Amino acid sequence: MVEKRKKKAAAGSGLDGRRVDTRGMPRPPAPKRTPSYDPACTRCPRLAEFLAESHKRYPEYFARPVPSFGAAAPKVAIVGLAPGMHGANRTGRPFTGDYAGVLLYETLHELGLASSAVSTSADDPLKLKDTRILNAVKCVPPENKPLPDEIRACNAYLKTELQELTRVRVVLALGRVAHDAVLMAEGLKRSQYEFGHGREHALGNGGGSAKGSVARGDAARYLVDSYHCSRYNTQTRVLTPEMFKKVVARACELAEL
Ligand code: SF4
Repeated sequence: MVEKRKKKAAAGSGLDGRRVDTRGMPRPPAPKRTPSYDPACTRCPRLAEFLAESHKRYPEYFARPVPSFGAAAPKVAIVGLAPGMHGANRTGRPFTGDYAGVLLYETLHELGLASSAVSTSADDPLKLKDTRILNAVKCVPPENKPLPDEIRACNAYLKTELQELTRVRVVLALGRVAHDAVLMAEGLKRSQYEFGHGREHALGNGGGSAKGSVARGDAARYLVDSYHCSRYNTQTRVLTPEMFKKVVARACELAEL
């Protein structure tokens, strides 16, 4: 059933990694500016230039900083790395339009956090429950590799959003860059919170981290780490669907969902 759904989703949607023919389609509209999002931000000159080039080459792509997506007052915030050129940079929704979101949305759906197992565009009817997806860096970087200065510059938005999302009990970091960005946003030292798949960290109040489980009630907010659900990690089985489901389920448990 899941295989069937994957094949259906892949047809024409780019979820199989192949480019979608979008020529002649209208560019998705720019979302409104907020304290944690500016569709016209050009703080990172290299990324602003790269975005301008991508807009010239693919005028129908979203090609702006990609806003967060999901519940307005979530209990779980999922933090990824950055938009992919032909995925979120095309559609305007994180983890949408390329392979990177396949496992993420399937898992969220299985756990009752997403109304559909597939996210195809910023205006499809998909809704997230108690969950919001953010990125450490909002603009597509060349070769998916943002520079340290760019991660720092965009951290101001991540920090503002994590402060605004007062109901968030658990931040689920997808990969080391997201893990480090969350610590930076929370004003915490990296040396005290080591990244590792399945690691759990009680944030603040001199909190700590554990290879096993942290006790619920240890902190107002927890950080849970996962390997990034990228095409490379899933196809090489560095991250299996079972591993990912387990870590997302644990994030839900800590968030009392
Ligand atoms: S990555 Fe963030 S800070 Fe840099 S230009 Fe894009 S939105 Fe602005």
